[in-house]
Amino acid sequence: MSEVKTQKPTIVAPPDGYSQPGFFATSLEKAVGLARKNSIWPQPFATSCCGIEFMAVMAPHYDLGRFGSERLSYSPRQSDLLMVMGTISKKMGPIVRQVYEQMAEPKWVLAMGACASSGGIFDTYSVLQGIDKVIPVDVYVPGCPPRPEQIIDGLLLIQDMVSKESFRKRQSPEYKELMTKYGMENQ
Ligand code: SF4
Repeated sequence: MSEVKTQKPTIVAPPDGYSQPGFFATSLEKAVGLARKNSIWPQPFATSCCGIEFMAVMAPHYDLGRFGSERLSYSPRQSDLLMVMGTISKKMGPIVRQVYEQMAEPKWVLAMGACASSGGIFDTYSVLQGIDKVIPVDVYVPGCPPRPEQIIDGLLLIQDMVSKESFRKRQSPEYKELMTKYGMENQ
């Protein structure tokens, strides 16, 4: 009878570092990046059909909790990823911006679907042609609506950015310039 080898599942891969029997060393930045990456608290800002697709992502079949993001935050002050999904009218633009401004640094933004990314099919006087007109966006997920796999892919891209982000990024001249472009103060 052949021997069945069982491998211990790795929940989270360790960051780059130096290891020898009995110890593992890495930088504080990488350790913090690992923790942040695997505990992102999303703030869903859903206005229409893309929000329904997002519900599927939270349900057991796709289960965003597998990536450490099962805890949705309905308070901007307790979230670090703003997920905007759905058509955003021009009247709603200042509200999206207010929610973003209430979030503490470091924070990231994912625009989900054609409407949030570019206005989608609604090229009209009343619809904001992309949320990047009012807030900076880190990842755009295309589709109308995007498939749950695409949304998960977007979150994985955000996770990658989070884990590699330098402590100094938010104090860098480039980041300050970006905030100034949007008329916001770096918090
Ligand atoms: S991108 Fe398509 S599915 Fe998503 S909110 Fe717009 S119209 Fe609805």
